[in-house]
Amino acid sequence: MNRFNSITILLVFSLITAASSVSAQPVRGLHLTNPPGRDNLELFLKFIREALPKEGVNTLVLEFDYSYQFESHPELASPGALGKAEVKQIVEACRDAKVELIPQINCLGHQSWSKTTSALLTKYPEFDETPGKYPDNEGIYCRSWCPYHPEVHKIVFELIDELAAACEAKAVHVGMDEVFILADKDCPRCKDKSAAEAFAYEINTLHDHLASNGLTMWMWSDRFIDGKVTGIGEWEASENGTAAAIDMAPNDIVMCDWHYEAAHPTAMFFAVKGFPVVSCPWRKPEVALGQLQLMDTARMYANNKTGERLRGMLHTTWCGTVPFMNAYYNEGRNSNRGNNSNRSAIETVNTFKVLFEAMRKK
Ligand SMILES: [Zn+2]
Repeated sequence: MNRFNSITILLVFSLITAASSVSAQPVRGLHLTNPPGRDNLELFLKFIREALPKEGVNTLVLEFDYSYQFESHPELASPGALGKAEVKQIVEACRDAKVELIPQINCLGHQSWSKTTSALLTKYPEFDETPGKYPDNEGIYCRSWCPYHPEVHKIVFELIDELAAACEAKAVHVGMDEVFILADKDCPRCKDKSAAEAFAYEINTLHDHLASNGLTMWMWSDRFIDGKVTGIGEWEASENGTAAAIDMAPNDIVMCDWHYEAAHPTAMFFAVKGFPVVSCPWRKPEVALGQLQLMDTARMYANNKTGERLRGMLHTTWCGTVPFMNAYYNEGRNSNRGNNSNRSAIETVNTFKVLFEAMRKK
């Protein structure tokens, strides 16, 4: 064996030894959408108490949006949504399972989906950034509210406060991914603002309100990555001028860095910029494991100051809570049949299992 090979083997051995000594990820999270109705509440409580600890989940981000019986604004509550008493049962199950519950309500963007406009802009169309434009939501991805409308945040804060109280939360996820409609030229309040300025204004408004209640803000971080410079594009990164907002955002926001097609090394970007960050895969096991490897490697080499910002993983599902649980409990039984949404649920469950198995080995 020559000297080069000896050094190579020694180096590889050192890396393996060092990697295996990386401590467990602080955040081992699961993100679920569409909370179950009353019919599936018992299954959800069982899933939280049994499956989450078994898999090693310690954080559950539950995206409610308007699927909650808001007492402050019953006009915005989805029919059949869970109320305070049922959410109390979810809180207790999470406490038993030692899981932190973080409620989510999508702010600013994602105020419509396909032809359906969400409750807030249906009941209060004056909050729309583009009122009267894009009939039936044709030609757009999702509607946004106007961050500078003088009345919008009073209502949004009441929703957030009520949901945070019901969940006994220490943190709230405000969404804010894929915001494409911003600083519209026809909005009288925004027409002279840049997209970054309007985006940063919303971030700071939400952050300051949450901070005043002792709550940490979590958000999706795609709008802070320059899609052209990185080549990541306009979905998982931004090509609509919002990337500059990162220098106007408070540094205690937890960035949820989602990438579904490739394990881009962007978590380090956020950590170096001063933000706590979690990496978020979806339904490709190789992407999830790549992100975990990057997180481990960065934590191994980072100094304490930057390293403590590299917080771990938040697995996303995007199939609804009930389909996710059904796929989780029926693993393998129906993997070759079913429609696209079933296949999507099975893929994200498989990725979840692969990712958490890898994390349990630390
Ligand atoms: Zn506006």
